[in-house]
Amino acid sequence: MITYLLKLGELTLKGGNRRIFERILRRNLEALVRGTGARVETANGRFYLHAPAGMEKQAEDALDHLLGITGWAKTRVCEKTVSAVIRSCIAEGQNLREKGIQTFKIEARRTDKRFPLDSYGIAREGGEAVLEAVPELLVDVHHPGGIIEVEIREKAYVYGFARRGRRGLPVGSAGRGLLLLSGGIDSPVAGYLLASRGMLIEAVYFHAYPYTPEEARLKVLKLAEIVGRYSQGIRLHILPFTPVQMRIKEGAPPEWHTILLRMAMMDAAEKLAVKRRCQCLITGESLSQVASQTIENIACTENRVKLPILRPLIGMDKEGIIRLAGTIGTYETSILPYEDCCVLFSPSHPILRGDREEALRRYEGLGLEETLDQTLREGLTEQCSFPREREQPVL
Ligand code: ATP
Ligand code: MG
Repeated sequence: MITYLLKLGELTLKGGNRRIFERILRRNLEALVRGTGARVETANGRFYLHAPAGMEKQAEDALDHLLGITGWAKTRVCEKTVSAVIRSCIAEGQNLREKGIQTFKIEARRTDKRFPLDSYGIAREGGEAVLEAVPELLVDVHHPGGIIEVEIREKAYVYGFARRGRRGLPVGSAGRGLLLLSGGIDSPVAGYLLASRGMLIEAVYFHAYPYTPEEARLKVLKLAEIVGRYSQGIRLHILPFTPVQMRIKEGAPPEWHTILLRMAMMDAAEKLAVKRRCQCLITGESLSQVASQTIENIACTENRVKLPILRPLIGMDKEGIIRLAGTIGTYETSILPYEDCCVLFSPSHPILRGDREEALRRYEGLGLEETLDQTLREGLTEQCSFPREREQPVL
């Protein structure tokens, strides 16, 4: 068995609710490692993951997708004797050296006060032993190249390389939101950010087949799969939007098409959210990134919506969003060339500062109610990432 030790961050600030958060975290990790034979153990507020030999890659991939931990480390577990702890320190020192690290220090914590050395004593004796056994390593307490951590708890744990976790809060601790997921760069990042605040994510994609190709739909599915790995799966609703777009095209001047299409998306999304018991809508909008995202046009777009609309990217610039998309793993898929429906219907001179009242008048003049209801009836739902189920009706 290989043991990983997990570090909980924000979770530990939750006072009386901490237990609830921990239970969700545990369930999420168990779901991520399902089928690998790995086992989650909790002891005195600490989380450990025990993975069978040969399952390291799967275990580490799971930890890399787990929201709600600040870090994790592959750890040596040894007897609570001074000699066993020192042997582990030496092994960890050799490990540091093999990775090309030249300086180190030992940080020790001791919750079991029966252990014969206190934390200072462990650091001193462990440090001396490492210096002797691995003469290429030097001690540097201020700017060490590597830190060997020793924790004396139910057992003794020794580890050298702590990896950064995804941080945030465990998914399932903060309600449920409906993400408007297009095939672009922004909306998958928006979904990830709210998942990392603990929100369960469902997603809706408005598909304008045959004006947008089948590849565009597959691309959105792929994005939902990637984000779904972090968010305990995503239920993706795919709604046929061509009839809605046609009505807008016929019933309004071109410069209004984008705003009206956005209003229709919000309208359909809200109806779906209510049916699916989602408590808010989520979009990838970022202020003034494109014509439809000026503050005036955002005001038009959300005019009729009663649910809260969360826009986690609103103050971010494109560079920052792209960087995040890279770390989540959605960027490469997002930049595949298939256009989403809005590009095809973009007028060359869209209105930049729409008037709310006029937008509302025009939207209501289109009489989209029945078309939207039909769209919802004809949609399909796919379950992305786990658990896998395919092709069911939306509602
Ligand atoms: P993205 O990269 O997320 O596509 P974008 O910069 O292309 O964003 P817009 O196309 O103006 O911006 O879309 C703004 C937001 O509206 C998107 O972030 C997404 O939440 C939603 N949206 C746009 N098109 C669709 C669609 N076809 N299906 C679902 N949601 C959409
Ligand atoms: Mg887009």
